[in-house]
Amino acid sequence: MSLDSSIQYLKGVGPKRAAKLNKLGIYTINDLIYYFPREYDDRRKMKKIKDLINKEKVTLEVTVSGSSITLRPRKNITITKIPIKDETGICYMVFFNKPYIDKIFKIGDKIKVNGRVDISYGNVQIQNPIYSNLSDSNNNINTIMPIYPLTNKLRNNEIIKLIKTSLKTQLDNIDEIFTLDMRKDLNLISIEEAIKNIHFPEGREKYKASKYRIVFEEFLILQLGLFLVKSRLNENNKGIVFTKEDKSNEFLNSLPFKLTNAQLKVFEEIKGDMESDKIMNRLVQGDVGSGKTIIAILSILKAKTSGYQSVMMAPTEILATQHYEEINKLLHNFGVNCELLVGSLTQKKKEQILQMVENGEVDILVGTHALIQDSVNFKKLGLTITDEQHRFGVRQRAKLTEKGITPDVLVMSATPIPRTLAMILYGDLDISIIDELPPGRKKIDTYSVSDDKKNRAFEFLEKQIAKGRQAYIVCPLVEESENLDVKSATETYEELKILYGNKYKIGLLHGKMKPKEKDEIMKQFKENIIQVLISTTVIEVGVNVANANIMIVINSERFGLAQLHQLRGRVGRGEYKSYCILINKGKNKIARERMRIMEKTSNGFIISEKDLELRGPGEFFGVRQHGIPEFKLANIFTDIKILKIAQKISQDILTEDPKLELTKNIKIKNKVYKLISEKLNDISFN
Ligand code: ADP
Ligand code: MG
Repeated sequence: MSLDSSIQYLKGVGPKRAAKLNKLGIYTINDLIYYFPREYDDRRKMKKIKDLINKEKVTLEVTVSGSSITLRPRKNITITKIPIKDETGICYMVFFNKPYIDKIFKIGDKIKVNGRVDISYGNVQIQNPIYSNLSDSNNNINTIMPIYPLTNKLRNNEIIKLIKTSLKTQLDNIDEIFTLDMRKDLNLISIEEAIKNIHFPEGREKYKASKYRIVFEEFLILQLGLFLVKSRLNENNKGIVFTKEDKSNEFLNSLPFKLTNAQLKVFEEIKGDMESDKIMNRLVQGDVGSGKTIIAILSILKAKTSGYQSVMMAPTEILATQHYEEINKLLHNFGVNCELLVGSLTQKKKEQILQMVENGEVDILVGTHALIQDSVNFKKLGLTITDEQHRFGVRQRAKLTEKGITPDVLVMSATPIPRTLAMILYGDLDISIIDELPPGRKKIDTYSVSDDKKNRAFEFLEKQIAKGRQAYIVCPLVEESENLDVKSATETYEELKILYGNKYKIGLLHGKMKPKEKDEIMKQFKENIIQVLISTTVIEVGVNVANANIMIVINSERFGLAQLHQLRGRVGRGEYKSYCILINKGKNKIARERMRIMEKTSNGFIISEKDLELRGPGEFFGVRQHGIPEFKLANIFTDIKILKIAQKISQDILTEDPKLELTKNIKIKNKVYKLISEKLNDISFN
């Protein structure tokens, strides 16, 4: 038997158990050994009877102090109570439907008991406890017990037993990828120690060292894999060489403004990629309003000058349409033919456009997901652009790329993420950052207001509208949700319609509306037919209405800070002083701190870093979407310190040994290559 043996060969596993384990993703002994506990039940906490607190889990050392009583309150139900005592008091063990249990205990037996305390009517009980003789050393009472995440109808104890069995025979076989020297340098305990203690910790310190060891290894291997994939991509595949001569200077002269230094710097980086034979794989990160679209347009123009088509994908129809209009406006005079492909087009129009794209009559095709359908074929696609990348998965980005032969790839994101994370989430991309806003942007005054003062916020909003401005009201959910006490957009809409009556026109926009309806509402808002737009986060990205200068966010505590920051970027786009009012019900310290950050800071990068610090794991944004493999133990949010160390070490290793060819790195290399072939293929070769 080896680590790779099927779980079926493990002692105690028959076909039935094997099937259950398979459902947990456990197929081999190795899978089982790497099935880590979700949490631990520390049963070392010994207590005295007089100190027991209701509902806590405890371990007691007691003596059986009397004979058992069995009650039969109903047919088929028995309750057996056995009195136990220590020097501080007396209480009962209570067992349900185990009438035979009284045979096990004799008065005077000294035992250990572990279970949950139940105190009612002054009666102190330990319900369905586990127990053992004081002398019995082979018991689980006095230990830290692992609790496994999902058990799929297997009892936690069954899993524990199976893991113990497999560790007994296979622990020695687990591959140690680090040499002794490296382990000393990096302060890592051995993998055997770590695996053993992550399942059955001998104590707190051992547990910490084990977790560190395993998490570090996971991060290191992934980061090395991503770095290697990137360098291999750059090395092996030759991309399109776009001509140095382009019309970018003429184009820049035609603009009513000058590019910021940050924009110029980023376009230089893109130009470098495009003019070289390296396939561009570049992420442009820039705060809301930093002017990413112009950068995309410059790249499109450059591709066109070399005779290549471009494609640009945006997450919503509204945004795609806006890009389409902007590109048309700015590039029309440069002989660039732009078309829009979105779901709401008529079949006839769609076919017409697709035909033109295939013939090469369209230079830049802008659209939504519709772009990745099989029916979309280009004559000579040279550049793919994905806007607001965080809304798309790696797969979708790859699908777009497959429509050309080694096209250059540009990804744009307004979700500024800390560099540490970007290196993991976009490990396969080069990163350019636009860290400067165009001059003249006014700070958006941001105020956090508690829910009971929201009327004043709405009064303020009305004043702005009376001055001729327009307003956004953002709500977190579309449908009414009683439990969550969340004001839905629809509900707010109905309320305000009554409040503002026929003085102003109010519009409603949410994700469940048909694209046509959405477009109509947006159009009316742009034309100031609608003064107050109530919406969910569908307006989050890109929407540009210069006359709108105030935004109220309802239940703002429910949003991520990065998201609030993006939403806020919808105002402050024109000449008027702009406001963002965050109405919130958040009462705890963290909620208040989060709102304070929004009031104080207008730099998206700082905001997202703080958001990460404060919220830790979870909802920061959909990590899974990014296509990085899931970790067994590591968490890119809570283990960020270890991630940083692993990133530094992975760079050190590759500096010394770029292809991992040194003997001391051989085992690391094997593990990295295994990961690449199993998990990173999507990223590397599409
Ligand atoms: P984002 O980075 O959020 O996508 P956009 O590309 O939509 O930002 O740009 C926001 C607005 O700023 C647009 O109206 C655009 O024309 C304008 N803009 C872009 N660059 C500059 C600049 N250098 N100076 C002044 N205005 C600019
Ligand atoms: Mg944009």
